[in-house]
Amino acid sequence: MTDTPGTESAPRRTLRLSCEFFPPRDEGGLKSLDAVAGKLQSLQPDFYSCTYGAGGTTRDGTRETIARLLAQGYAAAPHLSIGNDSKETVFALLDQYRQLGVRRIVALRGDAPSGMGAPRIQNNAEKLVGWIRDHSGTHFHLEVAAYPEIHPDAGGPDQDLEYFRRKVAAGADSAITQYFYSPYAYYDFIERCSRAGIDIPIVPGIMPITNFEGIVRFSRKCGADIPRWMFKRLEALADDEAGLRDFGIDTLTRMCAELIEAGAPGLHFYTLNRWGATRAICNRLGLLTPDS
Ligand code: FAD
Repeated sequence: MTDTPGTESAPRRTLRLSCEFFPPRDEGGLKSLDAVAGKLQSLQPDFYSCTYGAGGTTRDGTRETIARLLAQGYAAAPHLSIGNDSKETVFALLDQYRQLGVRRIVALRGDAPSGMGAPRIQNNAEKLVGWIRDHSGTHFHLEVAAYPEIHPDAGGPDQDLEYFRRKVAAGADSAITQYFYSPYAYYDFIERCSRAGIDIPIVPGIMPITNFEGIVRFSRKCGADIPRWMFKRLEALADDEAGLRDFGIDTLTRMCAELIEAGAPGLHFYTLNRWGATRAICNRLGLLTPDS
């Protein structure tokens, strides 16, 4: 919720809502994002976030997008991936973000850029969280990533949970999950976190569905499972844009309602710089402001 430009106020509702964008490539994309950010204000989001391209490829684009969102009066959180960057590079970016008025960062390891020859990333998000706390104290609220369906590179669920625990212990304030379509994966993860003494809010990441091939390709890459029944329904609707969209909105509205009922502390929408499906889901959940 934002009522002062660039700052976050005490939430008026307990459910935390946020929306994720990627940095647009050109002026047309920036203008279109202005409109999307405006449309999504009807959710009264606690903040917008902006991704950071693999290997720092959008370092400038992310910063410029965040500066633009802040200038328009929205609370905005940059994603920052450590990749193979040096402390000096990270510290310089932190200084720039502090000057811009940023108060929240999504701290990540990141992935190597696609293509041959990209060096393996030697760092991890735990190290980045430690660097940010060393350099900036508690100035930034730190979000980290969580993987209810287990990170693709992980040696196993226990090891992945232990690394998550260490990342939180290094100074994370809250976490956002990779998207999932089975709420049971989230419930199981929350229970395991609780048993491991991890008590930060863990907000489900929600990926609206608008394109069959896109969601299948991306889910394979990031290790998100599409349950068989859902895959079959989506496949059958692959060429029916409106039908696929309606099915996606119905399914995710039901899942979000269940997650809220089960006590999820909020919802984070991977909007892909679009507003329609996110707003439709929130409308069905009764989360939009009355006059929107
Ligand atoms: P980590 O927490 O470092 O974990 C990565 C892997 O290493 C895991 O398998 C873990 O088990 C293991 N590990 C962790 N710590 C250690 C350790 N100390 N020693 C050995 N192994 C360890 N990617 C982008 O490029 N840009 C983005 O903007 C972006 N935004 C994202 C936002 C969210 C909410 C999520 C969920 C993911 C996002 N990603 C983004 C993807 C993310 O960068 C990848 O999933 C990446 O592979 C892992 O990042 P991480 O921060 O989760 O890494």
